[in-house]
Amino acid sequence: MATPIGNLRDISLRALDVLKSADAIAAEDTRITRRLLDHYGIPKRLIAVHEHNERRAVKQALALLGAGRSLALVCDAGTPAISDPGAVLVSAVRDAGYSVTPVPGANAAVTALAAAGLETPHFLFFGFLPSKGGARRRALAALAALPYTLVFYEAPHRIAECLHDMSEVLGAARRVVIARELTKAFESIHVCTLALAPQWVEADANRRRGEFVLLVEGAAALTEDSSEGRRTLEVLLAELPVKQAVDLTVKLTGGRRNELYKLALTLKGHGK
Ligand code: SAM
Repeated sequence: MATPIGNLRDISLRALDVLKSADAIAAEDTRITRRLLDHYGIPKRLIAVHEHNERRAVKQALALLGAGRSLALVCDAGTPAISDPGAVLVSAVRDAGYSVTPVPGANAAVTALAAAGLETPHFLFFGFLPSKGGARRRALAALAALPYTLVFYEAPHRIAECLHDMSEVLGAARRVVIARELTKAFESIHVCTLALAPQWVEADANRRRGEFVLLVEGAAALTEDSSEGRRTLEVLLAELPVKQAVDLTVKLTGGRRNELYKLALTLKGHGK
């Protein structure tokens, strides 16, 4: 079941009912879940299930369920099994013949997507990229041609280098949404091109603090425009102001004005 990703009030009435009625709660870091339970006045037995003991914890969980008890599974924040432990336990419990009931709620990726304003209907959730530069760039290269919004989780100490690599491998013209500290006091959502993103986070230490979701515009938006429209726009932008270049490109190619205008701003280096 899902728990909040920051704001403790982002929890459903049903989730609270389940936390209250479960015989035990399987939690990633029991101290963090204890804080949530204390906030809502729910005293409950906690079992630790983290990435290093998930298989061992299965035995404990099955023993409990075998004794006719119920168990709720949570992670530190958000939805279990999404860049978090949970899948091993869920699968083992179901294989043992018990039912598994999802209780939906907060998830950082979906929360960021809702506020991103990226118009593509499809997205690919990647989660964390490899922490080492070479492996990260290889992983990005494998995603570069996909026509979907790409959704990443990233740690604060790697945010700048990650944005540098994204700009290099995915292309500097793509838009990126940097969603930081969602639902918390210092929430910020910044949209710019990948070309400008590294310098934006480097300009202020506060912009590198907290938790991040990065959403990068998919390749489709660019390839659509990269054909006739993009080429025409590039030639005209070299000679004319943005508005005139866009007007003429619309007339010449029949392309969509909004898309071409956005692309023109990006090509000029001051896209949103
Ligand atoms: N299971 C969680 C979920 O459903 O979103 C994700 C857990 S993952 C270990 C933690 C990562 O999620 C963070 O490093 C960050 O990238 C992202 N994240 C979690 N909470 C966030 C928030 N409030 N704002 C932005 N990103 C967040």
